[in-house]
Parts: sequence; structure tokens; C-alpha cells
Amino acid sequence: MKCTVCGGPATIKIPRHTSAFCPFHFQEYVLSQVTYAIERYHLFGHDKSIMLALSGGKDSMVLGEILTRMRYDVQAVHINNGFGEYSQSSEDLVRDFAQRYSIPLRVYSFQELLGFDFAHALRYAKRSACPVCSAVRRYFLNRLALDHECDVIVTGHNLDDETSAFLGNMLRWHMDDLGSKGPLMPEEKGMVRRAKPLVRLTDPEVHMYADLNDIPLMNGVCPHARGAAGIAYKRLLDALEREMTGTKAHFYSGYLKRAKARFTPAGAGERIEAGRCPCCGYRTLRKDLCFVCMLKERASHG
Ligand SMILES: [Zn+2]
Ligand SMILES: [Zn+2]
Repeated sequence: MKCTVCGGPATIKIPRHTSAFCPFHFQEYVLSQVTYAIERYHLFGHDKSIMLALSGGKDSMVLGEILTRMRYDVQAVHINNGFGEYSQSSEDLVRDFAQRYSIPLRVYSFQELLGFDFAHALRYAKRSACPVCSAVRRYFLNRLALDHECDVIVTGHNLDDETSAFLGNMLRWHMDDLGSKGPLMPEEKGMVRRAKPLVRLTDPEVHMYADLNDIPLMNGVCPHARGAAGIAYKRLLDALEREMTGTKAHFYSGYLKRAKARFTPAGAGERIEAGRCPCCGYRTLRKDLCFVCMLKERASHG
């Protein structure tokens, strides 16, 4: 197998682009895919202040390394979930990483942001762990970005994360979610712009890039992630990709080009504004308090 660019020995094959790369040209390929996503989807420019959600997973760290390398103005936030040893090693890893790449970092705990711990949040929410964790994080990332005057929040979601989430939303016909996904969520009143610059790269590609750049990987898995449906959707899409090269990329780009608008209220003929939380002003599809204010309200009643 030869590198498509230089003809030297290739170590990674990218069937959906009918390419293979040596380690050097693989890194160039990764950087070009990120640049393409930033420009093609109008994510952000060099004049913007970027807040990176640094979870401790490989994706957000790879994204931090790439944005630093591209000389974007990046600062990072880590939210410690308080899941014992797993969260502590994530925080340690994130602190080392940020120091190594000179990325300014702020660390918060779930407890200090919310006023109670995750176990209590689960009890008040009456929902499973993954959606509660991600809703609370999304909420506080937005608030922290507003507090620190950041123009855009970036997350490390890659093509596998995005396509598996779509598949899950489609199988359950979550119409609101189907209309609001994609590499860019533009800013609106009280809501900071959100961008996902890694959407053109797969899990193994991000993994390989992390290896080549000595970006450390978490050993443990989130104690709440066991049996998460997302893993099943990823496996299914991997199987389809093996049979039909390019399935994931076509699924994603086809959604953006042809399907997304059909799921948005605007696409349905009229613009329906999402509501605002009467307590904090956060954008919400709920009729009353937003999810986090609802949790706080339940907490105040014990
Ligand atoms: Zn090469
Ligand atoms: Zn609220």
C-alpha cells in the first residue's frame, strides 16, 4: 500500500476517499479536513474567541491540539462529573494536556455548578444518565461561554458521533433533534454559537492522529456509559460502512444538504421560536422552566 501523495509506504487507508497515507501525509489530510469543515460550514474565524469543551476524551484533546496548531484563540473548560476515579483521571489528563499545549483552562465540578451532585440530578430528572449529563453540560458550557465572553463553543464530535446520533434520532423520530443537529448551531439571543470542526473525520482517524501526536488517551470508560444505545448505532454503521464504503459520509452530508431543512419549523412553512426559560432565559423546547432550572427547583423541594 502506497501513500497517495508521496508514494512512500502508507500506514492508513481511507477507503471513502480512495486514498492511503504515510504518517506525515495522514496528518496533512486530517488538518485539511478540519480546515475544510471550518470554511465550508462557516464555523469561525481567527478573530473569534473559542471555548473548547475539554472532556478528557481523545476527540476534544485532538481538537485542542489542532486549533492550537492552527493558531486559533482557544481557551478550555472542563467539567468534572464527580464519577469517582474515572472523573479524577479525566481531570488530571485534561490539566496535563492543557499545560502541555499552553491552553488556558478552567475546571469546574458538577456539584459547584449545579449545587448538588450527579446522583441527585438523576433522581430529580427521572431520566437516564447520558441525556442528563449532556443536557447539564450543554447548559453550563453556554453560561460559562457567556460569562467569559467567548464567541463560539467547540466540541470534539466526529463523523461517527454525529451519524450514530442521527440514526438514533431517526429510529425514534425525535423531530426537534433531527432539525437542530449539524456542524454549526448559530448564535441567538442568550445562546452562544456552537461548532463541531471534527465532523469530517471518523473515530479511527481521530484515534490515529492522537497516537501520532502522543496525545494521551483515557483508559477507563465512563461508569454510566455501559449499554449506551449510541455504541450499538456506531456498530451498525460500521457494518454498513464495511459493506458500502462512504455510507456514513453520504448519510451526513445528504442530511445537511437535503433533509435538515425538512425537520425544522422553518422548513415546515412557518418559523416557530423555541421558548425561553422564564427563570434564566435559556433556549428551551419545554413549556416552562428549562431542564436545569427544573432540576434546581426540584432540589429546593428536597
Ligand atoms: Zn506520504
Ligand atoms: Zn432556566
